[in-house]
Amino acid sequence: MKQEKAVVVFSGGQDSTTCLFWALKTFGEVEVVTFDYQQRHKLEIECARQIATELGVKQTVLDMSLLNQLAPNALTRNEIAIEQQAGELPSTFVDGRNLLFLSFAAIYAKQSGARHLITGVCETDFSGYPDCRDAFVKSLQVTLNLAMDYPFVIHTPLMWLDKAETWKMADDLGAFDYIREKTLTCYNGIIGDGCGECPACKLRAAGLQTYLRERQEAMG
Ligand code: ZN
Repeated sequence: MKQEKAVVVFSGGQDSTTCLFWALKTFGEVEVVTFDYQQRHKLEIECARQIATELGVKQTVLDMSLLNQLAPNALTRNEIAIEQQAGELPSTFVDGRNLLFLSFAAIYAKQSGARHLITGVCETDFSGYPDCRDAFVKSLQVTLNLAMDYPFVIHTPLMWLDKAETWKMADDLGAFDYIREKTLTCYNGIIGDGCGECPACKLRAAGLQTYLRERQEAMG
């Protein structure tokens, strides 16, 4: 696919940055789109901009503030706590977020002559968001192709990986240190290893520890 052009849905977090490195290795030309939906931390967009600049990738920031207007949630409102009740989706879930992000990214991609879309969604060890599931992504690919009469392919390199395997993928791509130090996953807006307290930091740290242990054992 070295002849082809791809667009990565890019937030500056661990997952989408790993996807960006994967795309840079896989495709001849890569751009990123970043969505501004009035995240709690403007820093998230700053962080994404910094990474795109450092990697020499064209970034387009799209205004998605309507998402916050439609569905207030813990990622956009400080007064909503980040929490998860048993058997329920966490308060960080935003209805339709990936549906909208991928649809807008597809419109952008078609305009810029790209047919490959890459998203870091993952079914394996996140919180059961319905629009992160493989069946949804496959369904949306069909819908986008029909909607725009254009042969989009949606790639989900992380779909079946757990967090430890995502760290391994970063390492295999030669990007382990970069992703560990430069990406922002933390809900409290702290780059790199983060605050250590929020659910995103705990998930990231647990995966990292598992991967580091496995790497250590593999090296004997
Ligand atoms: Zn944190």
